Amino acid sequence: MTTDDLESVESFRARARTWLKENMPPAPDGYRWQGDDASWPRARELQKILYAGGFAGICFPKEYGGLGLTPAHQRAFTEESLGYEMPLALNVPTFSICAATILDMGTEEQKRAHIPAVIKGEEVLCQFLSEPNGGSDLAGLTTRAERDGDTWILNGSKIWSTFAFAADYALCLARTDWDVPKHRGLTMFLMPVHAEGVTIQRIKQTNGSDEFCQEFFENVVLPADAVVGEVNDGWTVASRQLFHERTAVGGGSPYTSGARPRSGGEVHDLLDLAERTGQLDDLRVREDIGEAKAMRLVEEQMIARVSQAIKTGAMPGHAGSLLRLFHAETVWMQTDAALRIAGAVGVTGEPGRDQDPTDVGEDFIYRQASGLGGGSTEMARNIISERLLGMPREQAADRDIPFRQVKTGR
Ligand SMILES: Cc1cc2nc3c(=O)[nH]c(=O)nc-3n(C[C@H](O)[C@H](O)[C@H](O)COP(=O)(O)OP(=O)(O)OC[C@H]3O[C@@H](n4cnc5c(N)ncnc54)[C@H](O)[C@@H]3O)c2cc1C
Repeated sequence: MTTDDLESVESFRARARTWLKENMPPAPDGYRWQGDDASWPRARELQKILYAGGFAGICFPKEYGGLGLTPAHQRAFTEESLGYEMPLALNVPTFSICAATILDMGTEEQKRAHIPAVIKGEEVLCQFLSEPNGGSDLAGLTTRAERDGDTWILNGSKIWSTFAFAADYALCLARTDWDVPKHRGLTMFLMPVHAEGVTIQRIKQTNGSDEFCQEFFENVVLPADAVVGEVNDGWTVASRQLFHERTAVGGGSPYTSGARPRSGGEVHDLLDLAERTGQLDDLRVREDIGEAKAMRLVEEQMIARVSQAIKTGAMPGHAGSLLRLFHAETVWMQTDAALRIAGAVGVTGEPGRDQDPTDVGEDFIYRQASGLGGGSTEMARNIISERLLGMPREQAADRDIPFRQVKTGR
């Protein structure tokens, strides 16, 4: 099928507009997805409505339950869906990172088992990558999977797994060979999150959120067909997953269903704040708002340009780090500006109360997340300099030596 055979974007948009009006609940005033426990059954319910209406999995192929349409159709749907309650909880990582990776790297059985299930709202996915010893050096992980006849036995621990408590399956990277250099002894598994031997602990953050989890694996038995890609070639799968993660965090994924509230808020939140605090005529405040607006406009253009360039091969997949980096810079700029405008009330006000209408203080604390999630800002800069600009590689004492011989500790 060529794009000429597809329904036009205009016709799809018009159908979506009518259908959304008749079927989706309007978003409550000041709607902001909280990621609390109640969001999960609700997200599954909303996704089921989208699926029944024929508006789920817009860019996923038809053979796996999607609509097989283009990112332009997805963007049109997203624009129309603003103002409605949407299953935002499923956007990241279920659709845009995990299902996208399974689509690219999974076996036919894995694709048929999991992609239709997530599109129908029956399955939630998460990522088991980072470990307590550090997430930037992902290839240095020490969770191990050992072969035992036809099965694998998993032991170790993962951390910072977003929404693992609410998920059904996870993409989990583990070491399966300790006698080769670190990138070459890893295998990716698609495992049930609540398998016997998995203990999940939730992590409470200073802002009250407990979206993150730590998992402990004690002799978890996984079948041979849980392997995604090839045994000991998990780095290839993880690289694809990280590509989807950077693109998703940067805002360029075609696999999301509906809008995602921006971290750090919208530019009109800054305008509201300036108006409410009587600072609309203050030159410094106007400059901040202007800069935030300019950054958001550049970000949108950059997402369109880089996503298209990666798709056509004009830019390598590593260019996703440009989106990831610029997104973090934009969020930091905007949350800093909000705090400058709010002044002391941004810290002392109670979130949600009149004097702190945009949760400025909370956003300021949470801005750290945009500089870490999807790989840190420093790692994004490393990738851009080494992989896109061709600058010399960073010194690494563990390159090309068997992982077992890598010196650890001081
Ligand atoms: C919102 C959010 C969601 C997340 N979701 C998940 C998830 O679902 N699953 C999952 O597995 N993980 C998840 N993470 C974890 C995330 O992948 C890690 O936080 C990230 O990779 C950094 O790892 P770390 O926190 O262990 O920091 P470290 O790797 O310990 O790094 C600490 C600091 O040192 C810097 N640094 C490290 N190495 C270098 C270097 N070579 N050059 C320059 N600077 C360096 C880092 O940039 C960072 O500032 C999430 C994190 C956030 C914030």
